[in-house]
Amino acid sequence: MKIFHEIAPLRAHLSARPRAQRGFVPTMGALHAGHRALLERARAENGEVALSIYVNRPQFNDAGDFTNYPVTLDADLEMARAAGVDVVFAPPPEALYPDAYRYRVTETTYARTQEGAHRPGHFDGVLTVVLKLFQLIDPGRAYFGEKDWQQLRLVEGMAEALFLPVEIVRCPTVRAEDGLALSSRNARLSPEDRKRAAAFPAAMARAASTEAAVEALRKDGFTVEYVLDDGDRRLGAVVLGGVRLIDNLPLPSFPSPSAT
Ligand code: AMP
Repeated sequence: MKIFHEIAPLRAHLSARPRAQRGFVPTMGALHAGHRALLERARAENGEVALSIYVNRPQFNDAGDFTNYPVTLDADLEMARAAGVDVVFAPPPEALYPDAYRYRVTETTYARTQEGAHRPGHFDGVLTVVLKLFQLIDPGRAYFGEKDWQQLRLVEGMAEALFLPVEIVRCPTVRAEDGLALSSRNARLSPEDRKRAAAFPAAMARAASTEAAVEALRKDGFTVEYVLDDGDRRLGAVVLGGVRLIDNLPLPSFPSPSAT
């Protein structure tokens, strides 16, 4: 496994190899089994697997969330090695912004709704760094988790709109045994809150309406940012013990009243 911190040697290394056979998994590190599933899928489908680890300041609309974001580089590299990663790109902070973020990618419609309505500028930061990373890694395929549903759909939209020669591969959300979606931020939950957090996906899945989900979550002590239905998906964001959690699920199918 080769580890690159600088852009020039990374590009020199990758340019000698076939791009179509390169699978890419972009992350912010603090890797867990959700990331591992993406890496394993990339390993199975490509001749070469590249992983990036970069905590992207511009996508954090909350300074405290950025400062508190977990960094576990040694453990990340261990997981990467075990998953058969060939190339790791872990640039120093802000190395990807020689322009000081003057140039950015904006989606003007969908990115302002849902998660984007609660995190102003978040998806500009995400799309900009993903485009920069695609330029540097030049993958044939890139792997994204359904855990970040709106992000996944915006990346798909960007690839289509900008004619990017990369296939975006959707990967299902990996959950803990109690149903909580794995997230690097879960590590910041107190043991007590970690136990209570399982009520979040449970309420989202069970409630007959978004209003009922919000009520159930509030009763359980969550601060609810939003729960909304979009097509056949239910999406939500809550805060528990100062930690913000997001999730999304296929909408529950309830028996119609006449069928009972
Ligand atoms: P992050 O490091 O949080 O930016 O996530 C990097 C990639 O891993 C994104 O495509 C996420 O959607 C994906 N990911 C994070 N958590 C999970 C999970 N529990 N299941 C599946 N994919 C995930």
